[in-house]
Amino acid sequence: MTFKELEARLKELESLPSMKGNSSIPKALEEAGFSRRDFMKWAGAMTAFLALPASFTPMVARAAELTDRVPVIWLHMAECTGCSESLLRSDTPTIDSLIFDYISLEYHETVMAASGWQAEENLESAIEKYKGNYFLMVEGGIPVGETENYLTIGAHAKTGRQIATEACNNAKAILAIGTCSSFGGIQAAHPNPSNAKPLHKITNKEVINVPGCPPSEKNIVGNVLQFLLFGKPALDVYNRPKWAYGLRIHDLCERRGHFDAGEFVEHFGDEGAKNGYCLYKVGCKGPYTFNNCSRERFNQHTSWPIQAGHGCIGCSEPNFWDTMQPFEKPLASHQFNSVFGGLGSDAMADKIGIGVLCLTGVAIAAHAAIATMKKGNEE
Ligand code: SF4
Ligand code: SF4
Repeated sequence: MTFKELEARLKELESLPSMKGNSSIPKALEEAGFSRRDFMKWAGAMTAFLALPASFTPMVARAAELTDRVPVIWLHMAECTGCSESLLRSDTPTIDSLIFDYISLEYHETVMAASGWQAEENLESAIEKYKGNYFLMVEGGIPVGETENYLTIGAHAKTGRQIATEACNNAKAILAIGTCSSFGGIQAAHPNPSNAKPLHKITNKEVINVPGCPPSEKNIVGNVLQFLLFGKPALDVYNRPKWAYGLRIHDLCERRGHFDAGEFVEHFGDEGAKNGYCLYKVGCKGPYTFNNCSRERFNQHTSWPIQAGHGCIGCSEPNFWDTMQPFEKPLASHQFNSVFGGLGSDAMADKIGIGVLCLTGVAIAAHAAIATMKKGNEE
């Protein structure tokens, strides 16, 4: 997309009325104590995060200020609300969380005041009023088939499937937020008693998957900005935006030097653990997992699981509860079966087969073993 086209897109958004009355995002940021300089710094970081050149920073800042023009409907299906928590519950609000607060959230069960009949009515009228124009964000897996009634919501006891299908049918864009909505999550783990499915299995419309358990607040807000600026992002084979899920955890991991040097934690709490060695031998799934946690971290960039001393468990991959186990042992000899008819998830996020994954698993284990042997010989 050219600068000119982007300019036209932002102008189009600017011409829409703000849905927050007299207030605005710059005003809300100011009230929360953020200066213009803080905001532009954030916009610069967000621009880099979206893999855009620094010259796009003013446009990203403008797009963020215009997020109050686009109606968003956020649905909760079968889940733990961790994805919403990830975004909304920081004790000191971040610019990301303030921006999200400011997005025109027309319906979100956790943060809205209405309940019961009134809540149901709010959802129906938001769908009607913004038909064809709202962003739909869905959190949670969806029980289907004979067990569809495992999830009923609201005074009319509509099933999750009914509600999600209706909302999908009238949405401008659909984002599955979190692993449950993207791939079924823990609800769909064996033996899947409620027959839970991911969102893309219950609608014919295109669903963009933003997996993670939970996804970082940056991946959620970043996708909204991406849409505002460019429309649909480039996607991998699992419909994940490549800008966020294009690299493996292993590619940018801070312990990668130790992996290459054959320095591994053998048991939790050992000397290697104290020295920050690689966690592969205690089960890290970073080599098989596509996400940007190693670069972006969590909680305002302060830490992430591998920094805290536990391996990645592969939470942004399809069916990870079943396919990434055992969580605290290497995966090398493990048969990888995915929900996408045998497609694995290694090497390249957008083209790969099960054989390659198994071979890569063996190769990673071999690399780990050889590196350890070499190290032993040198000592
Ligand atoms: S195996 Fe895990 S801990 Fe080791 S370098 Fe790769 S991602 Fe990091
Ligand atoms: S490090 Fe791995 S398990 Fe942890 S949040 Fe990132 S992708 Fe998920």
